[in-house]
Amino acid sequence: MKIVKFKNPSTHLIVLSFIMLTLGFVMAYYVNSTVNNLKFDALIINETGTLRGSIQRATKLALLNSPELAGQLITDINRQFDHFVSSDDCNNHEGAEDIVFRGVIELRREWNSLENLLNEFLVVPSDEIIMGIILESEHCWETADSIVLNAQFATEGKVGEFELFYKILVINAITAVLIILYIVLYVRKKLEFEAFHDPLTGLLNRRSYGEVIQSEVARSVRYNSRLSLIIFDIDNFKLVNDNHGHGVGDRLFIDLAREVSQSVRESDFVFRVGGDEFAILCPETSADGAFKLAEKIRKKTEGYSFGTGETETISLGVAEFHKGLTKKQLDKLADQALYKAKNNGRNRTEIST
Ligand code: GH3
Ligand code: MG
Repeated sequence: MKIVKFKNPSTHLIVLSFIMLTLGFVMAYYVNSTVNNLKFDALIINETGTLRGSIQRATKLALLNSPELAGQLITDINRQFDHFVSSDDCNNHEGAEDIVFRGVIELRREWNSLENLLNEFLVVPSDEIIMGIILESEHCWETADSIVLNAQFATEGKVGEFELFYKILVINAITAVLIILYIVLYVRKKLEFEAFHDPLTGLLNRRSYGEVIQSEVARSVRYNSRLSLIIFDIDNFKLVNDNHGHGVGDRLFIDLAREVSQSVRESDFVFRVGGDEFAILCPETSADGAFKLAEKIRKKTEGYSFGTGETETISLGVAEFHKGLTKKQLDKLADQALYKAKNNGRNRTEIST
């Protein structure tokens, strides 16, 4: 029988958590930069709209020959341009919206031409200049319009990017569910494992002993097959604890459990039934066979150094199952044989008769 070790879930859990965290960071980064870009687009649309209206008003006021009002508006428009073009949002902006930014520069150039014509007209009004003013003002209107349109297209494109965020959110939600499922399954498996195994040695525990002996007795009755039980106990184990401490005592249990597990057949069951008492259930095995196995383990133990610097020995009792016995009676017979081995001087095997 092999000693089963319960594996920690770390690798899978770390990979899943890493995926979730990475996706979370990527999403946070993109959401942040997209929101900033959208802010810029809104600024472009608002400022360009205001400039477009102001330019038309300045043109109208100049043509109506209101030099004061027109002059004031021209100053305002220039201030607005200065503020707009030098703003951080505008300058730090990257990407496809460059076309929008170039449009703003173009609008300013056109406005400068129009501004010159307006100033000229305010000093010396003439019909010739009027035509130029109207044409320049139209250019400004068209350029401002195309800036707004381009900014709107860019905004729509960015809003579309939010679909990607939804996808990342869904993947993250699935990953979170997987992590939770994994933890639930792990906890359940661990609880099941702990219910049936001895935590120190990894051998089957007393609870398993009750269940396995019950089913093996039933199988022996049903198929008329042989079944033997060995119960063994470490001799004078209290002295190991007293002389070397519980740590060395525990280590001895672990080493002994490994040695015994390696000595038995794959089809045998090894249990730690409590304290320094162990049991081996051997299906398809007669009392003679079990006795041979018991002696093999006893001799192996005698020759094995358990780190105490002394020879540690075990005493063993063997009993074979016969029809009519209960599992409790089988256990009692093996226990009585063990008791006999202790009484007869320890470090020996006795068979129940
Ligand atoms: P005997 O030859 O008659 O078996 O003598 P013994 O000293 O081995 O006596 P007994 O089997 O009655 O005592 C078992 C001792 O095992 C008692 C307890 O202190 C010790 N023990 C039980 N469980 C553990 C454990 O998990 N770790 C350690 N270190 N000691 C344990
Ligand atoms: Mg003992």
